[in-house]
Amino acid sequence: MPAEYADTASAAYRAALQVVESVEPRIAAATRKELADQRDSLKLIASENYASPAVLLTMGSWLSDKYAEGTIGHRFYAGCQNVDTVESVAAEHARELFGAPYAYVQPHSGIDANLVAYWAILATRVEAPGLAEAGVKHVNNLSEDDWEALRHKLGNQRLLGMSLDAGGHLTHGFRPNISGKMFHQRSYGTHPDTELLDYDKVAAAAREFKPLILVAGYSAYPRRINFATMREIADEVGATLMVDMAHFAGLVAGKVFTGDEDPVPHAHVTTTTTHKSLRGPRGGLILAQPEYADAVDKGCPMVLGGPLAHVMAAKAVALAEARQPAFQTYAQQVADNAKALAEGFLTRGARLVTGGTDNHIVLLDVTSFGLTGRQAESALLDAGVVTNRNSIPVDPNGAWYTSGIRFGTPALTSRGFGPDDFDRVAELVVDVLKNTTAEGTSKAKYTLADGTAERVRAASAELLDANPLYPGLSV
Ligand code: PLP
Repeated sequence: MPAEYADTASAAYRAALQVVESVEPRIAAATRKELADQRDSLKLIASENYASPAVLLTMGSWLSDKYAEGTIGHRFYAGCQNVDTVESVAAEHARELFGAPYAYVQPHSGIDANLVAYWAILATRVEAPGLAEAGVKHVNNLSEDDWEALRHKLGNQRLLGMSLDAGGHLTHGFRPNISGKMFHQRSYGTHPDTELLDYDKVAAAAREFKPLILVAGYSAYPRRINFATMREIADEVGATLMVDMAHFAGLVAGKVFTGDEDPVPHAHVTTTTTHKSLRGPRGGLILAQPEYADAVDKGCPMVLGGPLAHVMAAKAVALAEARQPAFQTYAQQVADNAKALAEGFLTRGARLVTGGTDNHIVLLDVTSFGLTGRQAESALLDAGVVTNRNSIPVDPNGAWYTSGIRFGTPALTSRGFGPDDFDRVAELVVDVLKNTTAEGTSKAKYTLADGTAERVRAASAELLDANPLYPGLSV
């Protein structure tokens, strides 16, 4: 936030919270407390960030009150002229920022974006040829027999994505998620020795399984992906390449990932969240090549309910911010800081999945400290370090207790942390983990040595005070 706006933003928030307080004081209090808590903790959750006051303020308006099902210029409700403007501006920024021919900014979240993308791919690849074969333009005009045959085809397609324990997301075909139920799914993992994505294995799995959709992208893989290679694999087997860049969209927007590491020119469809490294409001968006654009554009009402106009407005503001040169500096800093954090762990003897990082994620194997992810996560939280436990490849402790802790640098980088600060963060994390002992054979219980939490909290406070969150903002 530019310093000159600190007083204005403070006045805006104070006034807004007073209004909220007059109706439900507990909500005003929780909102103030959340700011205080976020200011006082080392937020290392890889999927979180701090959106600018401009983005946050944009969401608190009467745009929220408008129903606008449909798409720009083609709504099922009257009076959508301002929502049309909002959606057009957000989509224009998204196209320009990512160099995409088409952008859809309605998805309410990353999961929604993936669901819309899946159905758009099914509509394009399965439904449209089915309609052409039956000689009709719309599913409503199919005979009952043709509709049954088409439904059977739509429900029997194949999806190949990265496995959860290798770093994939539950929407990439994980069985408990709808994506694992609506498709015949199979997953690819990482190399057992290097823990890196093994493109030969992905290609072999694709050749054998012949998926309609090949999904690339991750939530917990600390490396870059070569999307040109993934596209070659998809093309060889006739699959649609869908990339979910939810985690690393900020690094794409900030031109840290370019060429083969930029998914947008290589994927047929690219989905993302807007609130992680991209630093916007909570939400999703989809970028598509022209042949998929018409189907994606029908996301509402095909999959989604009425668009959240106030959030689309905030997406427009965040995307405008991401088009500024300062965002490229930020994105590069996110990657440099992740390297510093990884180095900080390695020099202190810790084991990292894949041996390091070249994106914004560092995945620490905590079994070398004699802990499960669950124990490490809780002990770190006791010391004011907010992280999340995460599976590591072929995790011996399963998906609940896990053996890893995932760290991410986007949030603290937004506060101004640099490489030296992240080296100090590594030192503090290792201090906590070395002073945590598992209780007996429990995978959840642990003891943190006396004085550790206080020592680490005091050291964190110095770092946090030197890099204030929303400097000058007082509510
Ligand atoms: N895709 C990936 C790769 C993610 O990491 C996530 C969130 O963690 C999502 C999709 C889902 O995003 P949301 O929580 O906004 O639905």
